[in-house]
Amino acid sequence: MKKSVLAIDGPAGAGKSTVARLVAEKLGYVYIDTGAMYRAVAWKVLRTGQPATDENIVKVAQDIDVRLEYRNGSLRVEADGVDVTDRIRTPEVTGIVSQVARLQPVREKMVLLQRKMAENGAVVMDGRDIASKVLPDADVKVFLTASIEERATRRWREMKEKGYEVSMEELKKEIAARDKMDTEREVSPLVRVPEAVLLDTTGQTIDEVVASVLALCR
Ligand code: C5P
Repeated sequence: MKKSVLAIDGPAGAGKSTVARLVAEKLGYVYIDTGAMYRAVAWKVLRTGQPATDENIVKVAQDIDVRLEYRNGSLRVEADGVDVTDRIRTPEVTGIVSQVARLQPVREKMVLLQRKMAENGAVVMDGRDIASKVLPDADVKVFLTASIEERATRRWREMKEKGYEVSMEELKKEIAARDKMDTEREVSPLVRVPEAVLLDTTGQTIDEVVASVLALCR
């Protein structure tokens, strides 16, 4: 099979990262989690202790060295040489990441890095603007979604496993707010491009969704 480029977009909690990682594993491709890159910037903004103003966010984004590294088959995220893989998943980071990601200078820098990582092909990249902006020539484009209830339930389980106690109602609100910001922002909003295959994962197992994506690659 020709080495392809897969773009997977969709709203928060749709299962993109799990599916993208497994599809990449099956194909022997590299998985690129673009959300992790915006999260790394958000993490550094919080670490400066300065308010998350547009100006401060842009300053942090200009300075930061974000890298996705693969160690023993698992994806690690580094910000300025610090392993932030777990630290970028806290509710505090999630709370400001969409504010960080809506800024043009932040996106410009991240998109350049993302394109560079994909230049040799054989990649599965997930995010919000992959098919529409980062890799418009991707061979396979998928828009993954699920009901808000299902997405909140998945996030709740994930958070619980990591030891966070959050209410379902709070999670639903947070997801809806993030989706709204991601969809309505001026720069590279979350959209389903017409050629993307819509996969609604509500009520489906991960294996079923992975199989559907792999079928699109054949
Ligand atoms: O995918 P994840 O939920 O980790 O992404 C975190 C946030 O990063 C999203 O809510 C969105 O604001 C931003 N993001 C983006 N463009 C991408 C990937 C993520 O704006 N390609």
